[in-house]
Amino acid sequence: MQSHPIQRLVIVGGGTAGWMAAALLAKAFGPTLAIRLIESDEIGTVGVGEATIPQIRHINQFLGIDEDAMLRAVRGTLKLGIEFNDWRRIGDSYLHAFGDIGLPLGLVPFQHYWLRDWQRREGVAPDLWSYSINAQACRQMRFGRMERVGSSPLTGVRYAYHLDAGLYGQYLRGTCDPRHVQRIEGKIVDVRLRAEDGFIESLQLASGEIVDGDFFIDCSGFRGLLIEGALNSGYENWQQWLPCDRAVAVASARVAPMRPYTQASARAAGWQWRIPLQHRNGNGHVYCSEYLSDDEATATLLAHLDGEALAEPRMIRFTTGMRRRSWNRNCVALGLASGFMEPLESTSIHMIQSAINRLISLFPDRHCDSALSDEYNRQTRLEYESVRDFLVLHYRATEREDTPFWRHCRAIGMPEHLARRVELFRQSGQIFRHGEELFTEVGWLQVLIGQGIEPQRYHPMADALPAAELDGFLGNMRTLIQRAVQTFPGHEQFVAGHCRAEA
Ligand SMILES: Cc1cc2nc3c(=O)[nH]c(=O)nc-3n(C[C@H](O)[C@H](O)[C@H](O)COP(=O)(O)OP(=O)(O)OC[C@H]3O[C@@H](n4cnc5c(N)ncnc54)[C@H](O)[C@@H]3O)c2cc1C
Repeated sequence: MQSHPIQRLVIVGGGTAGWMAAALLAKAFGPTLAIRLIESDEIGTVGVGEATIPQIRHINQFLGIDEDAMLRAVRGTLKLGIEFNDWRRIGDSYLHAFGDIGLPLGLVPFQHYWLRDWQRREGVAPDLWSYSINAQACRQMRFGRMERVGSSPLTGVRYAYHLDAGLYGQYLRGTCDPRHVQRIEGKIVDVRLRAEDGFIESLQLASGEIVDGDFFIDCSGFRGLLIEGALNSGYENWQQWLPCDRAVAVASARVAPMRPYTQASARAAGWQWRIPLQHRNGNGHVYCSEYLSDDEATATLLAHLDGEALAEPRMIRFTTGMRRRSWNRNCVALGLASGFMEPLESTSIHMIQSAINRLISLFPDRHCDSALSDEYNRQTRLEYESVRDFLVLHYRATEREDTPFWRHCRAIGMPEHLARRVELFRQSGQIFRHGEELFTEVGWLQVLIGQGIEPQRYHPMADALPAAELDGFLGNMRTLIQRAVQTFPGHEQFVAGHCRAEA
């Protein structure tokens, strides 16, 4: 059997997706793969995407990056979770903290013991987040690196980063060996397809230069220059579930102490993010244009900044959904070119990372066999749909009726899987993670409880524990967590001591 290995890889786009793909693929394949990355300074990058989830730390391990050095370079801070304000009701707040909550006993997950305590004490028992080290550190604005809570079986702190989007792309670029990754600055004006099979053959730049390759990665952002512009792969619109379609973003001066978490605060027709970096805050207002004008959205954003705006607000339009085929012929789309579901749970950068992992594990030769691309597209769809369901839950499970937008959200039809999951939890307190889906049971638990979905029952085995033992079990966990958090410095202090960027 003859092998026709891919030797020339072309990446279109130098945003986070493009440079992440270049850095990871260059590391994975070494000199066997010649990578060229084309980016256009004239077009620029989307310039947002500053909150991440813990899986991003695997990139550092894979590339051999020192975490503190990276945080210094991207003026980053540490992220323990997301605070959701006013989502269930105005005045209500809950956390989606990373990491575990409590401990299971035998086969019975922790939430059942907590539910028993909660129901027994009629809502005055310590809340769910009393059993999360991340949540307690958030509440006290502290941060520490800790694998385990003392010598107990409780897992320690799981964290991610807030980072400057522009600087992160540049940082990843700096990790690429120029002998393996060649950067080409220029604007692509034409995509040429092979007559016999429609595979991409070459790209033409405005300068007239032709760049040919065996395999192409489309990281050109929302425009999907190759995947849609040339290959017409189709886009599945998910606005019936995720109605927001615009964002206005602006950086502001950082005035308050740095929080070790992202804030996502619901507004009249969408929500607003606040992301603390070392030198500024990143802010944005995601909204639904059917219910709010661009001027109103901008005014709302500016009215809720905690420091002076540092630039003119920037508008970004999008359609929530996914590319029907992210891998089509000899082209894979990554990042915004493959789809977008809005940044409520900071999932997009992670989805670039997991798509690159998927591509590496299914890497083709020059034939690009359809079985490989079908499997890639199947896995991509599962990942997108599970993230979509998680996001929809935040909107759909609101009790707000104060604006037409929130009344609309209450009426959104739930995707089938989500409807089943919510009903199972409501009736029994049970949550199951399906296959490789991104969010764990603990992530789902916090949003379900945070959005006010209270189970009617818990697992019957939770009643087997005598009440005094239950009190001891829960009380010990709370004490261990509190003691551990007390040993952490403030987040601001941690950054100053480990990774403060030069002024
Ligand atoms: C409002 C908003 C908020 C977000 N917040 C988060 C967040 O908090 N966390 C998170 O994980 N993700 C977030 N994201 C998503 C995140 O920003 C993106 O996933 C990430 O930045 C990757 O973007 P990209 O590289 O795919 O596209 P882009 O940054 O748009 O890069 C596209 C690249 O393609 C190049 N290009 C395009 N056309 C051509 C051409 N003709 N010739 C040559 N080059 C070309 C451009 O020059 C550029 O280099 C957010 C997105 C939006 C819209």
